[in-house]
Amino acid sequence: MENSFEKFELNRQLLNAVADSGYTEPTPIQDKAIPLIMKGHDVLGIAQTGTGKTAAYLLPILMKIKYAQGTMPRCIIFAPTRELVMQIDSAISELAKYTDLRHTAIYGGLGPKTQIETIQKGIDIIVATPGRFMDLYLRETILVKDLKIMVLDEADKMMDMGFMPQIRKILEVIPRKRQNLLFSATFPDKVERLSEEFLEFPTRVEVTPQATTAETVKQRMFEVPNTQTKINLLKYLFSTEEVQKTIIFTRSKEVADHVYNSMVQRIVPFNKIRVIHANKGQNTRINSMEAFREGDVSVLVATDVAARGIDIQQVSHVINFDVPLIYEDYVHRIGRTGRANNVGEAITFLTIAEEYHIKKIEKIIRMEIPREEIPAEVEIEKTPFDEQQNLLREVDDQRKKEDPTFKGAFHEKKNKRPEVRKSKSSSGTKPFSPTKKTTKPDKKRGFSKRK
Ligand code: AMP
Repeated sequence: MENSFEKFELNRQLLNAVADSGYTEPTPIQDKAIPLIMKGHDVLGIAQTGTGKTAAYLLPILMKIKYAQGTMPRCIIFAPTRELVMQIDSAISELAKYTDLRHTAIYGGLGPKTQIETIQKGIDIIVATPGRFMDLYLRETILVKDLKIMVLDEADKMMDMGFMPQIRKILEVIPRKRQNLLFSATFPDKVERLSEEFLEFPTRVEVTPQATTAETVKQRMFEVPNTQTKINLLKYLFSTEEVQKTIIFTRSKEVADHVYNSMVQRIVPFNKIRVIHANKGQNTRINSMEAFREGDVSVLVATDVAARGIDIQQVSHVINFDVPLIYEDYVHRIGRTGRANNVGEAITFLTIAEEYHIKKIEKIIRMEIPREEIPAEVEIEKTPFDEQQNLLREVDDQRKKEDPTFKGAFHEKKNKRPEVRKSKSSSGTKPFSPTKKTTKPDKKRGFSKRK
């Protein structure tokens, strides 16, 4: 009783559903948020996925909405992607299974006909992406007169994905008198401004300090000279680590496809790996994620956009094939592992051009990610000329950004291609300063010595 869900004023239907889900103790965000939301406060929740934030707002909402009533929605939950919308909707199915509450997920990418029919039959809770919601609102399929509770989930992502204008329009059209809840994994200024607009006298609840990474994740990184060596390192990790369920994140769909193709050829059987990105049809993405969730597929290659909000438990490894340019995505990416008290591994590969970005990420997560030497068994490939030029150009651009008077060193470097070894020798891990030998965790080693 002390630390069980019984202490909240939830009804038997909900408590039974919680028990069926196997939750025995509330998570910290649930402990903090449930009583506040029950009392009717506006709440600003800073929590990553994996903390139990969805149930933290769903349980009190379900308690308030209680049973089917009328035909118009009394609660609307907004989330940035269809995957997350579907996931929230299925959490409602699970937690509201002993009630008669009617709920549905609405999102783009499919014709709206079925969604419209479902809503017209009468609905209590709608989970929606902002775009599709506005669409159905303008068709007058969704009437908002009875709306009592509105939730913005993953508000930071919604803003990053450019949903702000739609959210503003939505705020204009829905009744003012309502309870508002805003959840976000990170709390940059733009989310703070949104929360000021959206919430009235909110109570802030936070489960980890801003953008710190889950304690159950072991993070490390490797400095790698080029893409091909990254592939070699992947191969090595797959042959030596206890990799059970891995998500490999890439910055773009092109890189995702390249990694997928290389993995299929050399590293894992084709039926054990899938790739998801924006060019894959929605059904393919959903099927891939299901297969990964069920364990039929053990490796998922994904871009940040495709992977946003997906909840997959017990991921043993997250590999950042490259460093995300939206720095908060690092936190989101590694949040996929180390869930529900399982220790996970987050491994990041970085090139000379990514050094700049990882420094910014380390600032956000308030820690230095330990660096490891590339194991001697990994073949270090020569960097192709074009790739080398691109890397150096990027580094120049970064320096110019930091120091507008900097003229650029790129022209000096053009004919002076750094010596990159192709060897299996034991010292072989520092492609950009091959003569300098240091032991970890000396931060000055490697290619970061360009000022
Ligand atoms: P979320 O942070 O909402 O994405 O939740 C992450 C995962 O934790 C989901 O799969 C939930 O089913 C699960 N979960 C939520 N609350 C609890 C709890 N109190 N105990 C155990 N697992 C939970």
